[in-house]
Amino acid sequence: MSSVRDNTHQVMVGRRSAGGVAIGGGAPVSVQSMLSCPATDVSANLNQIERLAEAGCEIVRMAIPNHDALPAFQQVCEKSPLPVVADVHFDARIAMRAAWSGAAKLRINPGNIGGLENTNMVIDAARGAGIPIRIGVNAGSLDSALAARKDLTLPEKLAESAAEYVRYFEQERDFHDIVVSAKAHDVKTTIQTYRLLSQRIPHIPLHIGITEAGTVFQGTIKSAAGLGVLLEQGIGDTMRISLTDDPVLEVRAAWQLLAALDMRRRTPEIISCPTCGRCKVDMIPIAKAVEEAISRLNRPCKVAVMGCVVNGPGEAADADVGVACGEGQGAIFCHGRIVRKVDEAHIVDALMEEVEKL
Ligand code: SF4
Repeated sequence: MSSVRDNTHQVMVGRRSAGGVAIGGGAPVSVQSMLSCPATDVSANLNQIERLAEAGCEIVRMAIPNHDALPAFQQVCEKSPLPVVADVHFDARIAMRAAWSGAAKLRINPGNIGGLENTNMVIDAARGAGIPIRIGVNAGSLDSALAARKDLTLPEKLAESAAEYVRYFEQERDFHDIVVSAKAHDVKTTIQTYRLLSQRIPHIPLHIGITEAGTVFQGTIKSAAGLGVLLEQGIGDTMRISLTDDPVLEVRAAWQLLAALDMRRRTPEIISCPTCGRCKVDMIPIAKAVEEAISRLNRPCKVAVMGCVVNGPGEAADADVGVACGEGQGAIFCHGRIVRKVDEAHIVDALMEEVEKL
């Protein structure tokens, strides 16, 4: 059965022949993040892109706050291993120059770019450069007449605004290379808005996220709650988890969410028990050390860390590798069969040795 996601049209971010990423049209849900270094610091941004790419980021976005940042943006685009999206507010000329400077996509909010005349200039620049545009609407820049309507909820206003921009881009300007986002910091508003978008503009790929979600703990939970519901319903073609922290954590969280939904996997998954009175080892540091060690691997597998034999190999039989801890020691098992026993101090190393053999 085809999902909402399969029925959108597809846009390419970056050239397909040079590591471009397809969004929509049944392509895998792609993982994005945004650079947080000063916009004019080329080497800092490139270093951050390297770290993001290593973590599995597929598309990176860079803010261009003013014209002075454009030369650095161009250099980053030239050297980046990932497609770079230009994020521009308020000044259409910056967006146009970004399109000519190597941007793989533009992200604008037509509500704050200076009216339709300026929007038209950006559309023409994107068309000339052969790149898509993400139309990103938000509650703060809704058209004043729409914002004042008492008969519509906020999700209905956001969806109406986005649908009207899509109509304008497609019908008035014959521009179809579009992705849409309408994020909110509230989970329920975001879910309702994207459900409406998937009904109002079912052919348009959607960039999903909870904006200003907060620091890593709260932000991850809010994002998982909101995006999890949408992704499970087939809504959302590309995603960013926004965290007030190192953007690498955004990418790791996004992949964890996709893996939890069994949609995409690229890194190992840890299965670990919460411990209880039966546990005779210091389990929490062991589980954290295993998590850290496997986070550097770029292949999917399941590693179990269990506090005792009660729920050890049997409970975690679907794990590729695992440990069932006992007093001062651990029984290492592979696919439910115990292969050796090691002292508590060597549990992490022994597990990783078995992981390496997979
Ligand atoms: Fe307790 Fe053992 Fe279950 Fe862990 S695996 S929660 S230690 S019974």
